[in-house]
Amino acid sequence: MTPKLAMTIFLIGAVIWFVIRIPARRRARKTAVKLSARSLREKVLMAISLAGLGIVPFAYIASNFASSRFRFLSFADRPFIPALAWMGAAVFAASLWLFYRTHKELGRNWSVSLDIRESHKLITSGVYALVRHPMYSAFWLWAIAQALLLPNWVAGLAGIVGFGTLFFGRVGEEERLMCDAFGDQYRAYMRRTSRVLPGLY
Ligand code: SAH
Repeated sequence: MTPKLAMTIFLIGAVIWFVIRIPARRRARKTAVKLSARSLREKVLMAISLAGLGIVPFAYIASNFASSRFRFLSFADRPFIPALAWMGAAVFAASLWLFYRTHKELGRNWSVSLDIRESHKLITSGVYALVRHPMYSAFWLWAIAQALLLPNWVAGLAGIVGFGTLFFGRVGEEERLMCDAFGDQYRAYMRRTSRVLPGLY
């Protein structure tokens, strides 16, 4: 494993993630929204997450491939540790598998933000039986993989900070929205599941 290979693995993972989302985005466009909690705050949180998981690591990787003289964030470089990068590749693979499962199971109920759709169904089976926010578990795994793969403190940890901001800013709001839409059914689901880490949180 070399730094360039680790960066390439990160890019390939991001492309696979994007491809997994294509059918979900298409279905979402076709399914009407009944209730939405897309506030300005929610949009800012999404932008912060996009910066941390996407824009900052991509700018870092692009400048590393493009030039040896100017490398973005070079002041924050850390030593490259092949064993950590291999772990990062494995964690990214697990994250993509979980992304795939969550998109498949949410189907027409998927949304990039906080929406309740016409004839929205509450999904509680498959990976949704293990935790109630498995897609956010997958994003946490992405953020951890990023930190393990990229040998730079800022580009590596940007995902944890960026997605962490979205997660903690959104998850309570999302659960309130789900309680409004599904009432006791969602409250019972909350009692028997953890948020992202089975049995722990
Ligand atoms: N928090 C979930 C879903 C993220 S996508 C996860 O991490 O897997 C966000 C959209 O999914 C929101 O519009 C919300 O209304 C919807 N949603 C969240 N949990 C759901 C569930 N168990 N069943 C159906 N829709 C759900």
